[in-house]
Amino acid sequence: MSNLDLKPVATRCGGDASTGPVRDLLTGRAVRLGESTEVRRLLPTMGRRMVGAWCFVDHYGPDDIADEPGMQVPPHPHMGLQTVSWLHQGEVLHRDSLGSLQTLRPRELGLMTSGRAISHSEESPRSHARLLHGAQLWVALPDAHRHTAPAFEHHAQLPEITAAGLHGTVILGSLDGATSPGTTHTPLVGADLTLAEGAAARLPLEPEFEYAALAMSGSVDVDGVRVEPGSILYLGCGRRELPLLARTDASLLLLGGEPFAEEIVMWWNFVARSGEEIVRAREEWETGFRFGAVHGYAGERLAAPMLPPGALKPRGRQR
Ligand code: MN
Repeated sequence: MSNLDLKPVATRCGGDASTGPVRDLLTGRAVRLGESTEVRRLLPTMGRRMVGAWCFVDHYGPDDIADEPGMQVPPHPHMGLQTVSWLHQGEVLHRDSLGSLQTLRPRELGLMTSGRAISHSEESPRSHARLLHGAQLWVALPDAHRHTAPAFEHHAQLPEITAAGLHGTVILGSLDGATSPGTTHTPLVGADLTLAEGAAARLPLEPEFEYAALAMSGSVDVDGVRVEPGSILYLGCGRRELPLLARTDASLLLLGGEPFAEEIVMWWNFVARSGEEIVRAREEWETGFRFGAVHGYAGERLAAPMLPPGALKPRGRQR
């Protein structure tokens, strides 16, 4: 039943040739956002740019923000992607150029589909919980859907899965027969798994998907590899199940999907297919109306950073 081969042969999955099951533990890097916040960037990272259509993962906190403003991300644009806001503790107030105004709470899905253009802000409400802990994830939109109309979805109720010592919430896509109501445009999955210390479980996987796991808290052996906050374990594809063993009370994010065959250009908050598209999007954020306006945020919108010297080139999902 299980494919836990230690010397896997190469298999085809998705559009490109890829290896079968692997266990690559990749270390994230600390990135400063603004003056006080530091996050762990787990995608893109050295050695891996995407897992399925997942193209960006920041894990932040838990941070004590009792006497601080907390998260204050001024209005900024997106294109070509979906953002997934996922909290374990605290709350985030989302505003966007569609007029959405939504407080997101732990284990609720805030799913923003930028399509061709959207702008939004994210902030801790003035009155907020002491601790802020969560993840910000992006999903690249395939070419056929990347020019779609922008949309925002809030799903407070998500399907859950349970096993002995394990409780899971399906954020996007499907896992173990449970399917999230969030809109997706490529076959993928995102799930939040809470494990009690000592829990041992085997999660059913899709052999055509590639997967990765990261710890939001605690310590879990994922297919025998210790995973703790700050790193992400890339698992490859060709697996029918995944053994988990919780070393402590712990929480994992499982990300997976059909390998994303299209090459993308990712810069700042944009996902495109060419450097020219990026240059144009930056210009239109700086001087135009394409990305709309966010109302109600107390502060200036974000200015786009300078473009790096040289041309921005499309890159594949691996490096
Ligand atoms: Mn954003």
